Amino acid sequence: MAVEIDHLGIAVRDLAEALRFYRDALGLGVAHTETVESERVRVAMLPAGSRIELLEAADAESPIAKFIDKRGPGLHHVALSVDDLASTVQRLREQGARILNEPRPGAGGHTYVFVHPASAGGVLLELIQK
Ligand code: ZN
Repeated sequence: MAVEIDHLGIAVRDLAEALRFYRDALGLGVAHTETVESERVRVAMLPAGSRIELLEAADAESPIAKFIDKRGPGLHHVALSVDDLASTVQRLREQGARILNEPRPGAGGHTYVFVHPASAGGVLLELIQK
């Protein structure tokens, strides 16, 4: 089974300001931007060997707004791509991992789940299937 780092999700207060650093100053390209209504976030995906996902809250009730209120901007999650998300989720559940949502389409149309940090070494883990 191939498991690869797909992206690192970084919570930012202001996407335009973050792009001035990552795109304009550092020189990364922007593969795409979108608003993911179900997560109430605006997303910019920047290829960087793997990818960097900049996440800005789309409204005050967004999980990203709550994260930034509590901890400030910073690394929000690590995303791994897996071959078969359904069987991976089943296996993790059998081993007692806390899966935070049923598989659903997210940024870029990929199906994803989040795994609670308590089950993943203190890191919010996103598992995606392309
Ligand atoms: Zn992500």
